[in-house]
Amino acid sequence: MRTQNRYFFECVNCGSTFEEKEISYLCPKCETQNAQGEPLLGVLKVIYPYEKWQKIKNLSRILRENMFLKFLPLKNIANSSFLRVGFSPFYEVSLTTKSFTNKKVFLKDDSQNPTFSFKDRASTVVSHYAREKNFNTIVVASTGNAGASIAGICASQKQKAIVVVPASAPKAKLTQILMYGATLVPIAGNYDKAFDLSIELSKEFGWYNRNTAFNSLTIEGKKTVSLELFSDFRKFGFQESENLRIFVPVGDGAIISGVYKGFEDLLKSNLIEEMPKIIAVQASGSANIVNNLETENPVFPAAKTVADSISVDIPRNFFMTKNFLKTYNGEGILVDDENILYASKILSQQTGIFTEPAAATAVAGFIEFHRKNPHSQGRDVILLTGSGLKDLNAVQPLLELPDAVEATVSAVKNFLKL
Ligand SMILES: *Cc1c(COP(=O)(O)O)cnc(C)c1O
Ligand SMILES: [Zn+2]
Repeated sequence: MRTQNRYFFECVNCGSTFEEKEISYLCPKCETQNAQGEPLLGVLKVIYPYEKWQKIKNLSRILRENMFLKFLPLKNIANSSFLRVGFSPFYEVSLTTKSFTNKKVFLKDDSQNPTFSFKDRASTVVSHYAREKNFNTIVVASTGNAGASIAGICASQKQKAIVVVPASAPKAKLTQILMYGATLVPIAGNYDKAFDLSIELSKEFGWYNRNTAFNSLTIEGKKTVSLELFSDFRKFGFQESENLRIFVPVGDGAIISGVYKGFEDLLKSNLIEEMPKIIAVQASGSANIVNNLETENPVFPAAKTVADSISVDIPRNFFMTKNFLKTYNGEGILVDDENILYASKILSQQTGIFTEPAAATAVAGFIEFHRKNPHSQGRDVILLTGSGLKDLNAVQPLLELPDAVEATVSAVKNFLKL
């Protein structure tokens, strides 16, 4: 009997539901229709007993306790990673750009995770789930961050990580993966190739697969950011229903789906009254979700952008993302590489937070939104998903590293033209 269980799984495409023991990754009915080079059909969503939850009086307190355990498909958290994952800072700052002055905005800084990206939220839940199911090896396809993340979390949990990445991934991310002691498999091919290969590898060797979207627990891990924002907003004295926009950088569409899923869980449990407005920000050179929101027959041209973490030809979580954006009135915004680098500079220089280009993309989306809508009211929240130290090459065009100056006052005087 389904009602006796704490949760079950529901297919995003056909709506079939499954008990946990009936499935491992995708909906078996839809999985067979998956073709190489297309978004995944059959991604599953974890559904909880919301009606039962609605009747719990102190649900919001229970939610905060035990690191959101009640809202996750895990048995316990006793042997969770000792690293501090999530519970990231939430700041109110003001930004000045070419189109506005001192505009207030809230930042959720997930570059402060153990491996310096948002991906640690998903890796932690997946690593934990793998332990509960007696898997000791986890494989992942990654553009870099998911790999660095599972490598770090597995190191903390004494699990083995195997990371398949395009050989062209930024050096800092490859370095992290190796330093954490994971097995690195650089491939001659892009992320999309790595994705398909890693699934074949998990079938061949029985490794647990952490691929984004393919493993629905990644969405459950990512949703914890919304459970935190729920508290963050209240600490600053406002709520979801008060004309709120959240800017999220989008590649495969797993982070934004996680953000939606967290708020949806809160909404269905009657803990919040309204879904906030969520804005999907993509690089114009990698816009296969935003550009296909209104089309019946989506097309997926090759991606090219300075923001490598969101450079994705085939957005694997396309169907779930589109579904969320349509159901809850979300919006899409595109920004070009020049604006991404500009946003990165503005954020660094005006807040002291240096993010990687993918995260700066969300800042660029915020700037673009207010350039287009100069009179819009409401509060803005930007999700900062990764650290700037992960990709130093990307920002070099913004910088001029001066030649060495002779160590005398007069030489410095000359150098500074004083
Ligand atoms: C993975 C990642 C994203 C995009 O997340 P998707 O789930 O692919 O949409 C954005 N920013 C950073 C830093 C990332 O690592
Ligand atoms: Zn299905």
